[in-house]
Amino acid sequence: ATPTSIMVGTGRGAEMGVLFRKGEALQSLKSIGVVAVDKTGTLTEGRPALTDIHVPEGFDRAEVLPLVAAVEARSEHPIARAIVQAAEAEGLALPDVSAFESVTGFGVKAEVGGRQVEVGADRLMTRLGLDVSLFAETAATLGEDGKTPLFAAIDGKLAAILAVADPIKPTTPKAIAALHRQGLKVAMITGDNRRTAQAIARRLGIDDVVAEVLPEGKVEAVRRLKREHGSLAYVGDGINDAPALAEADVGIAIGTGTDIAIDAADVVLMSGNLEGVAHAIALSRATIRNIH
Ligand code: ADP
Ligand code: MG
Repeated sequence: ATPTSIMVGTGRGAEMGVLFRKGEALQSLKSIGVVAVDKTGTLTEGRPALTDIHVPEGFDRAEVLPLVAAVEARSEHPIARAIVQAAEAEGLALPDVSAFESVTGFGVKAEVGGRQVEVGADRLMTRLGLDVSLFAETAATLGEDGKTPLFAAIDGKLAAILAVADPIKPTTPKAIAALHRQGLKVAMITGDNRRTAQAIARRLGIDDVVAEVLPEGKVEAVRRLKREHGSLAYVGDGINDAPALAEADVGIAIGTGTDIAIDAADVVLMSGNLEGVAHAIALSRATIRNIH
């Protein structure tokens, strides 16, 4: 491509809210075979709400929720915010916590009033040696509904199953459809529960799902999809997306996302709208075509 055509293409992108931080991205985008997308905050709003809480016999919801929310008040995960907001909406007072610890990709734990409280994915409970089969059916149903099931343990006993739901952005279905019309495959990469991820992917017509990955696992998934499809664009918004954005042939950050993601990206969607990906690809194809 000539410098002039790249400048023109970059300028058109800017008018549409698609910022090319690197000129090469405009050229590489035309040969992409797959667009891999982070779920939380990219396909979804990234603002989940607490929808369910069930406690087994021997536990009381009114006792469990403040303990769980107190621990989550120390976490910055969107799931944590959902639980804290729900507790605050009920006017619950959150007790003080100590020895807080966050286990990336698993959940959180702390001491609350002399009690050990753990909150997270089923794999956190498994790590603690807890059997969650009592809630297996409930968890499956929640996942099928596109909700994320979470578990709480108090003093080493399973004390609750909770669920949060994160709405799909209104622009997401159109954005996925546009990519499909361009002949591209769309893959979802997420740390979230497999069943939840698959339910959301099904609703959106997403072709491939990689779920329950730890942050390092996102890069591995990107490498595999690259091998399978030749060339890949990755779209994400979070701190934990930065390595995948760097590993992708073209990294695309959501402009409303974290600075770390934006710094790692080649392209930034200023509107925070996933439809910008299809616009960027169309622009790339038109720009490169015009040169010959
Ligand atoms: P993602 O950003 O894709 O959700 P994460 O690695 O941040 O991936 O989280 C993966 C999973 O770990 C979550 O779906 C949840 O089950 C669990 N988890 C992480 N942080 C928390 C938290 N603060 N409270 C409860 N569960 C959590
Ligand atoms: Mg995200």
